[in-house]
Amino acid sequence: MSDLRDLYQSVILDHYKKPRNYGALADATGHAEGVNPLCGDHVTVQVRVQGGVVEAVGFEGTGCAISKASASLMTEIVGGKSVDDFESLFTRFHDLVTGEEEPGNGLGKLEVLSGVREFPMRVKCATLAWHALRAAIGGDEGEISTE
Ligand code: ZN
Repeated sequence: MSDLRDLYQSVILDHYKKPRNYGALADATGHAEGVNPLCGDHVTVQVRVQGGVVEAVGFEGTGCAISKASASLMTEIVGGKSVDDFESLFTRFHDLVTGEEEPGNGLGKLEVLSGVREFPMRVKCATLAWHALRAAIGGDEGEISTE
């Protein structure tokens, strides 16, 4: 188990140090900001949706390793999925980090964040970008807050 934990940790640090899809997105159709005052995480998510498909996601922001790694992983995994698939993935990811779904159910790389379940405060860090993306897809260009 500790080997697995080390692996998860190194994937998180990799995405934290070299976030994927970081920066402004060309031809974005929506954007939203997410803030998590308890930790100080702040993320802006941009999305391009075309015909019910999330073509691309980009993000910018500052925050802890968990929040940034989760945003980075999300942009990789959600890009190319339908909006419906994003919704069900979000639900399953949320269940994974809150401990309601066990790891090993095909969530792939997202499982590196499953350790968050032991730290309830960190669940907000892990889901912040996801809430922002949901708002951006919905065309709700406001700011969402975990508080
Ligand atoms: Zn955080």
